[in-house]
Amino acid sequence: MTAHLKKAELHCHVEGAAPPALTMTQAEKYGVATDGFVKDGAYVWNDFTSFIACYDFVASVFRTAEDYTALAEAYLLELAAANTIYSELFISPDHGEAVGLSPDDYVGGLAAGILSAREKTGIECRMVIIGERHLGPENVLARAKWAATFDHPLVTGFNMAGEERMNRVADYAPAFDIVREAGLGITIHAGELCGAFSVADALDLVKPSRIGHGVRAIEDADLVRRLADLGTVLEVCPGSNIALKVFPDYASHPLRRFVEAGVRVTLNSDDPPYFHTSLAQEYETASTVMGFTDAEINAMTRTAIEAAFVDEPTRKALLARL
Ligand SMILES: [Zn+2]
Repeated sequence: MTAHLKKAELHCHVEGAAPPALTMTQAEKYGVATDGFVKDGAYVWNDFTSFIACYDFVASVFRTAEDYTALAEAYLLELAAANTIYSELFISPDHGEAVGLSPDDYVGGLAAGILSAREKTGIECRMVIIGERHLGPENVLARAKWAATFDHPLVTGFNMAGEERMNRVADYAPAFDIVREAGLGITIHAGELCGAFSVADALDLVKPSRIGHGVRAIEDADLVRRLADLGTVLEVCPGSNIALKVFPDYASHPLRRFVEAGVRVTLNSDDPPYFHTSLAQEYETASTVMGFTDAEINAMTRTAIEAAFVDEPTRKALLARL
């Protein structure tokens, strides 16, 4: 049982964390049919393309700052109830803009939910701006320029997500140069849908302190050694990997091999209700299915706090709570 373990999460997309029940309420509020995307309290999809379609549908029923406040608060209260002390939420102003919500209102709404959850439970949370890869290099560059000048105490990082098979990392490198210069923490999705080359490209061209997934680096032993030497932190999402068939089953998932190779890893839920998981479930799976001891799991939690995009006093306070 891992319920008693303190937890921390670095990799969760806020729209991807929307509880299906909340999405139903939102759809009703706006008089939108759920179009088969929500059934029996769960999201319906069967491949990456329909996953993205469902995801965009869910995002489309969160339309105001208040809607996003409700979303952030609902998710963080759920995390806090599972003994989570820190969460980083990936947020996508492009989703806000798609429903006519300005980036200020989008971030402001989320921040209100974060502060409310902190007041009620003590959970700390920061936001990481997402550039959407499938919207193309120009769009991600524009998002990076915006993020570099957007000043909000809870926005501390930049990330690129979306369709990894579209374009090459090199096409997006200028965007990361801008946010690095601005002092934002950097992470990037790589090595999930694409193989080891994508992780190598990220290390060469983006120089992130963390990589989202990165698990297909296991295909290249030299690259695994390089990750260990650099101390790059992998935001590993085992339940997501199994649901998206990145690996056929937990027995073939490389998390244990990364740990044995000295790569720094963390446990994350990615888009939890889509993958019928939660952060608590990921911890439980790591323990009961993947065979990690409490001490090994606590080490992953500590790594998450060490790699968090927070100021040093906050990091110290979080480490003291472990
Ligand atoms: Zn992700």
